[in-house]
Amino acid sequence: MSRSVLVTGGNRGIGLAIAQAFAEAGDKVAITSRSGEVPEALAKYDVLAVRCDINDGAQVDAAFTEIEAQHGAPEIVVANAGITKDTLMLRMTEADFSSVIDTNLTGTFRVVKRASGKMLRARKGRIVLISSVVGLTGSPGQANYSASKAGLVGFARSLAREFGPRNITVNVVSPGFVDTDMTAVLSEERRKEIVSGVPLGRYAAPAEVASTVRFLASDEAAYITGAVIPVDGGLGMGH
Ligand code: NDP
Repeated sequence: MSRSVLVTGGNRGIGLAIAQAFAEAGDKVAITSRSGEVPEALAKYDVLAVRCDINDGAQVDAAFTEIEAQHGAPEIVVANAGITKDTLMLRMTEADFSSVIDTNLTGTFRVVKRASGKMLRARKGRIVLISSVVGLTGSPGQANYSASKAGLVGFARSLAREFGPRNITVNVVSPGFVDTDMTAVLSEERRKEIVSGVPLGRYAAPAEVASTVRFLASDEAAYITGAVIPVDGGLGMGH
């Protein structure tokens, strides 16, 4: 049966691959981004693209209202939108720190909070949060980003406990390094350094993260909740 799926940041990178995976399976997919455009790769599917800055609660509310009217309330929510503002601690301003927390952690809160009322009433739902291996391992120059991604783990596990009795699972997918715009800014030297620490010796393709997200939203994953699933080529060794 076709399900209403929302993927935040579904216009490019990992979110695009996730949206594509659900659309390919015949689900009703809505994507959000700050532009609200339908990316070329999704043009052949009947995907609903909605403009929504997750830093703005009113835009999140309006996006959900539109999705609910067109596809029904999302029963699968993938909170994928995120940013980096990397710099070493001594140079990191409070704005660098709080803007990353506001998008990656509080933005996820805004989206999940808006989704959860209808899911709780329906006694059904799947929530998948996209964290990062560095949320658990730490990373120099990414104190803001790592803190936001670690925060998602505590957030997800608290909700897994709150929502479990209503048949809603809440899980975290923790990618390592993935070929997207976010990692394209890294120098070739840094890329080589990263890859040398990855047992599988390469970056992930976005589709390799998407397949895990799709699994967590499937009937086969009905008994998995509060989990952090690494998709990192072994970089975090299970963490
Ligand atoms: P990209 O930079 O390619 O894409 C980021 C996405 O997030 C875009 O769709 C962007 O939308 C959206 N976004 C950012 N800020 C906002 C906002 N305020 N409101 C709405 N949408 C926003 O990143 P990736 O695809 O690489 O990353 C996706 C997720 O995966 C992120 O959470 C990231 O932290 C995580 N991740 C990525 C890894 C990697 O190696 N690439 C590794 C581990 C985790 P817009 O087009 O409007 O800017």
